[in-house]
Amino acid sequence: MFRIKGVSVPFIEKGWLRPHEPITHRNLVILPIAIAFAKEKGYGEVIIASVKEDCEYEKDRIIVISKLKELGSMIGIKVSTPFALMPKWMLLRLGTASGLDPSDTYSCLLGHAYHCGQCSQCQRRKEAFKQAGLSDPTRYYS
Ligand SMILES: [Zn+2]
Repeated sequence: MFRIKGVSVPFIEKGWLRPHEPITHRNLVILPIAIAFAKEKGYGEVIIASVKEDCEYEKDRIIVISKLKELGSMIGIKVSTPFALMPKWMLLRLGTASGLDPSDTYSCLLGHAYHCGQCSQCQRRKEAFKQAGLSDPTRYYS
């Protein structure tokens, strides 16, 4: 059974990944890897698609990201957060108006072929489509 230290319940139950909340400050792990990858591959910028709602459950996210921006600039990599103040529904509307097919995007915490429809990220996705006034083409398990 797979467990992450500090998390009291397993992520896998009966062979099925169960919904779990995003790991707070996961960007502390992911972003340095992205910065190192960008440097290795010769890219000059890493763009994080965080939206306003992401900052609501990580109150100090802006400070953490700004420190990671400093880290990137030390090795010549710009770290950008162009959507940090934008609600998810607005980013969805902006994306579809720019030609994005939302069925090509993925929000679910479970990593299955289709969205579970139950986890917090799937709930936010469904709400974003409603608030944007767009039909939701997402295939959900439930
Ligand atoms: Zn889900």
